[in-house]
Amino acid sequence: MTTIRMQDLRKSFGTYDVIKGVDLEIEPGEFMVFVGPSGCGKSTLLRLIAGLEEITAGTLAFDETIVNSLTPSQRGIAMVFQSYALYPHMTVYDNMAFGLKLAKGSADDVKRRVHKAAEMLQIADYLDRLPKQLSGGQRQRVAIGRAIVRDPKVFLFDEPLSNLDAALRVATRLEIAKLHAKMHDTTMIYVTHDQVEAMTLADRICVLRDGNVEQVGTPLELYEKPQSIFVAGFIGSPK
Ligand code: ADP
Ligand code: MG
Repeated sequence: MTTIRMQDLRKSFGTYDVIKGVDLEIEPGEFMVFVGPSGCGKSTLLRLIAGLEEITAGTLAFDETIVNSLTPSQRGIAMVFQSYALYPHMTVYDNMAFGLKLAKGSADDVKRRVHKAAEMLQIADYLDRLPKQLSGGQRQRVAIGRAIVRDPKVFLFDEPLSNLDAALRVATRLEIAKLHAKMHDTTMIYVTHDQVEAMTLADRICVLRDGNVEQVGTPLELYEKPQSIFVAGFIGSPK
């Protein structure tokens, strides 16, 4: 169970300030969704949490540990992106096992973890297939499975459904909701610009605007009490 604390977190690319002083606490096991318009800094903030971008200023802590200078694997995070970069020449099983083998897991442990994740995601029948023999939705589930087997403390998603067609998007969204219910000890942060995804998946939503936090609250709080027209516009209730 990991609490994530951001204090005056900042990121600049050269003189361009992208994240402008974010203060936010994400609770253990929480499903937090970052929403906001394209270019507002959602992916950058997620990448700062992941350790894929260097923090310009401020602190990021996982529980009591400041993680600013730790690598992604030292932080215990796993991340799923919108483009599921599976290894085309490896089976589903090998794609899922690859990271674990690198981490020198025992053969039995690797097998157990891969099968458990495959059951959870309903891809156990496809373990011998190659990625090209799967649908887009199945491939994205393999990408999620590859992250799950590493038993991350923190699970990050960056618009994982945006390359899927509408029907698959709904099915995979439901799969992610189930995953959150099953992995209730894992803190999850999910980036989207889709209001329905945010409202249905989130325990709390953080609305980002131009590198700042505009409002944080449960879907109902944001819907009923948006603090600005900007938030109302995003969450969909009239103000
Ligand atoms: P979002 O995910 O909300 O669409 P991003 O976090 O990807 O937004 O980007 C926020 C802003 O930061 C954008 O203006 C983008 O062009 C800029 N940006 C992101 N990454 C870099 C980078 N590596 N170098 C320079 N500018 C970047
Ligand atoms: Mg983005």
